[in-house]
Amino acid sequence: MALSQVVGRLLGVRQHQVDPGGGGADRVPRPTAAVVVGGGIAGMSAAVVLAERGVAVTVLEAAPTLGGRLGAWPEALADGDQRNEHGFHAFFRQYYNWRSILRRVDPDLGFLKPIPGYPILSAQWPTEEFGRLPPAPPANLLALLLRSPSLRLADLRLMDRDAALPLLSYDPVRTYAELDDTTADELLASLRLPDRARAMLFEVFSHSFFNHEAEMSAAEMVAQFHFYLLGNPEGLAFDCPDEDYATAIWEPLTRHLEKHGGRVLTGSTATGLRRAADGWRVATADGGNHAAGHVILAVDPPALAALVGASPDLAEQAPDLVARMPAFGRPGPPYAVARYWCDGDVAAGRAVFSGVSRQPTLDSVTLYHRLENESRRWARRSGGSVIELHAYACEPGVPAEELAERMRRELGALWPEAAGLRVRELRARVQAQAPAFTPGSHAWRPGVRTDATGLYLAGDGISTEFPSALMERSAATGIIAANHILRAEGGAAEPVRSIRPRGLLAGRRQPK
Ligand SMILES: Cc1cc2nc3c(=O)[nH]c(=O)nc-3n(C[C@H](O)[C@H](O)[C@H](O)COP(=O)(O)OP(=O)(O)OC[C@H]3O[C@@H](n4cnc5c(N)ncnc54)[C@H](O)[C@@H]3O)c2cc1C
Repeated sequence: MALSQVVGRLLGVRQHQVDPGGGGADRVPRPTAAVVVGGGIAGMSAAVVLAERGVAVTVLEAAPTLGGRLGAWPEALADGDQRNEHGFHAFFRQYYNWRSILRRVDPDLGFLKPIPGYPILSAQWPTEEFGRLPPAPPANLLALLLRSPSLRLADLRLMDRDAALPLLSYDPVRTYAELDDTTADELLASLRLPDRARAMLFEVFSHSFFNHEAEMSAAEMVAQFHFYLLGNPEGLAFDCPDEDYATAIWEPLTRHLEKHGGRVLTGSTATGLRRAADGWRVATADGGNHAAGHVILAVDPPALAALVGASPDLAEQAPDLVARMPAFGRPGPPYAVARYWCDGDVAAGRAVFSGVSRQPTLDSVTLYHRLENESRRWARRSGGSVIELHAYACEPGVPAEELAERMRRELGALWPEAAGLRVRELRARVQAQAPAFTPGSHAWRPGVRTDATGLYLAGDGISTEFPSALMERSAATGIIAANHILRAEGGAAEPVRSIRPRGLLAGRRQPK
């Protein structure tokens, strides 16, 4: 364990048990059926936990392949098939719940390889390095302040330190009460940071949550600062699978689920649900009608709003859920992913993953041929490279190919050699499915439990009472939904873990 982690632990920055789990039988004592709608991280996490306890679980996934926003599928290229993916993902080390699901298929998590470094690139300023900070707070914050070329001691003196206090004192109730109506933009402006520090240290951060600062709640930004930096005992370094997500995760997880009696039906779109005397019925587009005592809706926000809207029974069964949908169902801005298969490579010293600050479109660059085995093999064979470009919050209404070209041009401004690579193949996509974390959204964000008996929600837009985000929130809410069912049916619940629930200075602030 690193020294900073020892110090952090002494101060209370450590793993925190949200739910110890247990409390019931290894297997549910009576026949119990559950339907999970959505085969992404949230749905599959719920299904795995339920199946292991003997619940007869069926996962309905609309797409031909599992994984949702972490999906992977075969892509026919001119020189043979390759797996393509929904996009590069960083598996952070404080993702305790997601990692516990992944341990089902690889107990040592050997398929996750550490990514060395995490530079932030800018056309205006020198690169800032994030991933090599000491792992735990407060040393990581001190090192960031002392080492960062974007912040000088004189800048710290000019900063409004009172305005910075909320960043250090996250509290799951107070932070939202005080800051949810403010935008992240307003909060950052109030800190009076130099423009460079703001661009290099903070703006990259809000885009990583698929939201623009001017449209994101300041409370959510503080919560995410706490989850990734200030309350996180594991550090900002992260890992990535060395195989595509289907090979590394979805195929083995499906086998695990099936071994425990669960079923996965891909290409099966749920079109509505209704309440019958003995439980729920979930209708599918192919004419199916699935009966179960419990249903978990683990779909993205627009899909949830559509499904609830197409289920008239819910007006009576779940009026609170129905009332939350118009606001919840509006996703964040579109995101774009472009994977380029190129002739030639970028310079040897370029990092596997880089964040990008202040380019109009481009937010990150991943060198897949230095990360994932299949891309590595393709690059070796062809002498080329596989480069994935992301825009996390982009201009609406622009076609995917146009966004891909803008990102490629912007990369050329940062890495001149990239401009000279000849493009062999391009797969580009633009979608809007990420949850919006707009000011005021905390009030209408639904939790896992709904107001209808036996109906639960899971996903990265669903609220948790403990720090979580993105993939980890999807897995955590999936497990919590499964736990509600297990407890109702007499089965042992799954433990749920998180980081320190409140900021280091949360107890020290005077009430306003
Ligand atoms: C480009 C990109 C990069 C990302 N990078 C990171 C990262 O680095 N780190 C991180 O932690 N997170 C990252 N994320 C976020 C992460 O992917 C999501 O938080 C997570 O995958 C969401 O999982 P989910 O199960 O909640 O939802 P989804 O993955 O959206 O799954 C929902 C599933 O429901 C299915 N569905 C929808 N409607 C129906 C229906 N009617 N019937 C049946 N099925 C239906 C969908 O097809 C989908 O498979 C990234 C996301 C993107 C897009």
